[in-house]
Amino acid sequence: MKYVFSFDEWKGKKPKDLAHQLGGKGAGLAEMTRIGLPVPAGFTITTLACDYYYKHGRKLPKELKGQVHAALGKLEKKTGKKLGDPHDPLLVSVRSGSARSMPGMMETILNVGLNDQAVEGLAKKTGNARFAYDAYRRFVQMYSAVVIGLPKEELEEKLRAMKTRLKTKDDTQVPAEAWRDLVKEYKAHFHKKTGMHFPDDPEGQLWGAIEAVFRSWMAEKAVTYRRVEKITGLLGTAVSVVQMVFGNKGENSGTGVCFTRDPSTGGKEFYGDYLVNAQGEDVVAGIRTPMHLDEMHKLMPKVYAQLEGVRRTLEEHYRDMQDLEFTVEDGRLYMLQTRTGKRTPAAAFKIAVDMAKEGLITKEEALGRIKAEDIERLFYPVIRSDVNRAELGSRQLAIGISAVPGAAVGRVVFTAEEAEEWAGRGEKVILVRRETSPEDVGGMFVAQGILTATGGKTSHAAVVARGWGKCCVVGCEQLDISYEEKLMQSNGRVVRQGDWITLDGNDGAVFEGQVQLVMPELPETYYTLLKWADGIRRLGVRTNADTPQDSRKAIQMGAEGIGLCRTEHMFFKDFEQPEKSADRQLAIQEMIVAQDREARLKALARLLPFQRRDFIGIFEAMNGFPVTIRLIDPPLHEFVPHDPERQKDLAEKIGVSVETVARRVEQLHEANPMLGHRGCRLCITYPEILEMQVRAIIEAAIECKKRKIKVLPEIMIPLTLDRKEMEILGGATRRVADEIIKKSGVKLEYAVGTMIELPRAALLADQIAEVAEFFSYGTNDLTQTCMGLSRDDAGRFLPDYVDPNKAGVFPADPFQTIDEAGVGQLVRIGIEKGRKTRPKLKVGICGEHGGDATSVRFCHQVGMDYVSCSPFRVPIARLAAAQAVIEEKAAKKKAKGNKR
Ligand code: PEP
Ligand code: MG
Repeated sequence: MKYVFSFDEWKGKKPKDLAHQLGGKGAGLAEMTRIGLPVPAGFTITTLACDYYYKHGRKLPKELKGQVHAALGKLEKKTGKKLGDPHDPLLVSVRSGSARSMPGMMETILNVGLNDQAVEGLAKKTGNARFAYDAYRRFVQMYSAVVIGLPKEELEEKLRAMKTRLKTKDDTQVPAEAWRDLVKEYKAHFHKKTGMHFPDDPEGQLWGAIEAVFRSWMAEKAVTYRRVEKITGLLGTAVSVVQMVFGNKGENSGTGVCFTRDPSTGGKEFYGDYLVNAQGEDVVAGIRTPMHLDEMHKLMPKVYAQLEGVRRTLEEHYRDMQDLEFTVEDGRLYMLQTRTGKRTPAAAFKIAVDMAKEGLITKEEALGRIKAEDIERLFYPVIRSDVNRAELGSRQLAIGISAVPGAAVGRVVFTAEEAEEWAGRGEKVILVRRETSPEDVGGMFVAQGILTATGGKTSHAAVVARGWGKCCVVGCEQLDISYEEKLMQSNGRVVRQGDWITLDGNDGAVFEGQVQLVMPELPETYYTLLKWADGIRRLGVRTNADTPQDSRKAIQMGAEGIGLCRTEHMFFKDFEQPEKSADRQLAIQEMIVAQDREARLKALARLLPFQRRDFIGIFEAMNGFPVTIRLIDPPLHEFVPHDPERQKDLAEKIGVSVETVARRVEQLHEANPMLGHRGCRLCITYPEILEMQVRAIIEAAIECKKRKIKVLPEIMIPLTLDRKEMEILGGATRRVADEIIKKSGVKLEYAVGTMIELPRAALLADQIAEVAEFFSYGTNDLTQTCMGLSRDDAGRFLPDYVDPNKAGVFPADPFQTIDEAGVGQLVRIGIEKGRKTRPKLKVGICGEHGGDATSVRFCHQVGMDYVSCSPFRVPIARLAAAQAVIEEKAAKKKAKGNKR
């Protein structure tokens, strides 16, 4: 197996396509060499060697020694220098780099090859002893820390003490003798700590450094970074061994880091820093303040012009914004790295659109460059980038599952009532609960953010918060919450009601105190790009919205209708007239506690005007777009109080005994409510609920029509499992609707369809389609019932199932990204069978997956008509739907090419 490739052995081949093996850095260096840019000589050990290393109990492949030796020989020949030569030594840097960039997560060792003799040779050859000993102390310092693992601080402390003695803060003011003494001090320290002498053999140093880079692949920070960034499927890190070039040789030398465009705004400005007389790590470590590239321009115009040329060449070559590292040695420019530059979401949009307009990439490629997260992160307040991360880390209380990104700051409250009360006084609050229930919706609505100790990404809190685009962290299991004492504990710290906390929904972190946030502004290019997406996509994009406000928001986000209006969400909160919320709650609770049909009808009659008003508001907001309204779905126990105090309060308000309320609550108790008396089963038992809801929908539609507002109501039956059931409920719906329409004299068209959220319904879809006019996949429940995993509780162990370093059973959380292998099959079967019966059957999805980019692609592939998701995810779905078309076209083109 060939594990080692020199940078210059790619003539005619394209190393940039081999990043998987060469790592981003290795591929970049080889590619830059190939296209004739000034790159120091060197070679790369591929990621396959790292893969071997871990698969064989941390042993390097046998053939590696010989291959590295040969490559080193070539390098020595090319440079005319020898590793360890006491007169003119070759020095190398040993650099990490995997296929995906993991900035700062793995190690690099510079100036490998120095010892007491070589440093003298270097000093003589360069005529610069100060430089030579500075390079030497850097090497000993790095080697001790990175390869041997001595604490960095101990070494840095010695450096600091030396500078204090010399009364200087600036490395460039330290004379050669002082550096030489520091090397001695480092070596003595090394001996004291390890019992060994510092390795003087240059080849031994090289191997120590190579292995240290391989080890850094599994360092905790690297593993965590890959987990957080969901980086999987990599072989490991490659190791690039590069001839050292020196930016610390004097005033005509220096080192810099730059981006071919501004990575924060995306502007087409050359953006970067340059540090005179320094080595690469000095820029990153911020020891001295670097100068802007504009200043470098004035200082060394020729080198700058060359760098500017490199910038243009690389952008045109890679057709994307690049992040470059360079060194100037005695006025000569060397490129040390090129990679796709990380950028803010706003910059991602600007760069993609600008490059398409410049003709560098196509519109389709521009669309492909934007990730779902880029869009999502545009809409949420975020922690300011200038916040001191180290200080922030010390304030971290806990880390949970990030359910909705963005950040939020507020004072802790532990009940929804308190949240409303505090918010009513103008306080910013974070609602902290073990878990949330529909009863908490008012408190959730007023909170800046929501934090729960349990639950996963489709738990109640997550679904509701996502709908509002509200920061939400769930499943934060380290939190020990005491409602009685009104406090929570985590990692030995106590946070009481009223204390400030900050949530970072981007990574699920919870911090003590207030952290400064900013609201990112929507860039113009966002609108341009999404317009392009709309021109390409086939899938419709609707929204899940329960209120006129959400509907209006969704329209702004580009929704083309409502795919799911969860009517029960209206039972607890009057979003237009909050002071009326209590009336609604009481009416629904009275309906549930009612002893007989007559009492139930009375309570329902009180609910009717509320629901009708909500629907009117939604129809107005959607102004002619289709609106799918789902009949009541959750088990009734979710709507009644469970604690004696509130039961007593309810009994008094509706004029029945506490025992009656308590008995009814007891009756409603189910061992497994998710599989219990819920969904359309409720309306089989209590048809009067269906009658009231259908009446509210149809009367609202008629009123709107009378006011010349176009309406397209679609009434949806949830959790259907049989044709007969659908026939009964669909029939009842049509009877009520037709009667009202007839009486009104208004011409109104409407449709009656069903959700498909049980495996049985998918399997019997051909029969159900005989009586259902449309299907909407409820993939939250379909995932739950197909996989036998509770959507509310699985969050506790699913991370282990997803983490490739643990069980790694699933590629992703199946409640977030559709499980194509299993649940996906049911979706396909249901569509195929449904359309056999009803070829024009309209099919959509309204589970959380409707806003997940990967799942949206699947929905496109299986031929759905639309996806529906929370308003803030509408742009993600619009983009993903376009990307699905682009990918499909590319796949077809490739297949055609293969056939030829
Ligand atoms: C679903 O189950 O996917 C769905 C949309 O319904 P709900 O989340 O309200 O159960
Ligand atoms: Mg459901």
